Amino acid sequence: MKVLAFSHSMDLALELISAGRELGDVSLLMTSDQEGRINEVKGAKEILLCKGMGSGDQEGLVELISGLADDYEIVLLASDRRGRELVGQVAHRLGGSSAVDVSSLSVEDGKLVVERMTFGGKAIAVEELGLPAVISVQKGKFKPPEEGEPSVREISAPSVERRIEIIERKEKPKVGVPLDKAEIVVAVGRGFRKKEDLKLAYELADVLGGVVGATRPLAADLKWMEEEVWIGISGVRIAPKLLIVVGASGQQQFAAGIMDSKVVVAVNTDSKAPIFEQADYGVVMDLYEFLPVLTRKLKEIKGG
Ligand SMILES: Cc1cc2nc3c(=O)[nH]c(=O)nc-3n(C[C@H](O)[C@H](O)[C@H](O)COP(=O)(O)OP(=O)(O)OC[C@H]3O[C@@H](n4cnc5c(N)ncnc54)[C@H](O)[C@@H]3O)c2cc1C
Repeated sequence: MKVLAFSHSMDLALELISAGRELGDVSLLMTSDQEGRINEVKGAKEILLCKGMGSGDQEGLVELISGLADDYEIVLLASDRRGRELVGQVAHRLGGSSAVDVSSLSVEDGKLVVERMTFGGKAIAVEELGLPAVISVQKGKFKPPEEGEPSVREISAPSVERRIEIIERKEKPKVGVPLDKAEIVVAVGRGFRKKEDLKLAYELADVLGGVVGATRPLAADLKWMEEEVWIGISGVRIAPKLLIVVGASGQQQFAAGIMDSKVVVAVNTDSKAPIFEQADYGVVMDLYEFLPVLTRKLKEIKGG
């Protein structure tokens, strides 16, 4: 099968090459802003370099990928927010099938079969997709190939009939170490009564040299924190060495995002909270009593 791969993130694009190689020859689409990393690309059959388009041009990308896709059976994209957005738009244009958050791909009896999490991570769905198929692949499931020099073909950008006018671009403030790369994470939930109280979690993260993440309600509903720190099936999936979950119930949509963590400590007043099923160490206690003591003790140990 012929596979076309693209991701806004070059790190994920390299993973997509490996995912695509499970199915056939991979052509990697790269945009002008990605050209600087062209030498890192291994294992693809060819690179399609579009110097006339940047990866921020989502409307243009729909047009570009849909135009190229006629020559391919499968389009692979990354399961980040912009990648998932492209899946729907490109599949609609192609009239093909689609699947998001896929963790494995194979060809069985000439049919494309994918696996992906379902029911908030409680089960794996095995699905057979018709072709052409547009698929987003979960981050971290495939290692970038280390060998195989691709050929490079320059392609031109299509003319795009624009329906969106970009008025202004503002850079988002950076949130320090990205959560998915952090070794120590303090994850906060609705057990915190007000935004100001989160300083208890930041102080603990500071003394441990970690970062703070949150459940979806804190980031998406209450807007106490940036979207980038929202952990879970619809947010970031994390894999720290140490995760301290404070005042979060551990509902399955959150739990699916922390299952690769090595050591999980949970702090919750409710001894029946589901988070304790995932925890290696559980503290049934009010976070307002526990966190100041824990942080003080850790400071003492570090200071001494
Ligand atoms: C389609 C869909 C996708 C979703 N995706 C995500 C996702 O990606 N990530 C995500 O997080 N959620 C997601 N959700 C929401 C999810 O179902 C839960 O509602 C959410 O995770 C609960 O957040 P929480 O644990 O902060 O709040 P709650 O469930 O309200 O839990 C708060 C916890 O704090 C404890 N507590 C209260 N006071 C204290 C105290 N003083 N000290 C200690 N503990 C205390 C309580 O006992 C309770 O267990 C999704 C939902 C849907 C429908």
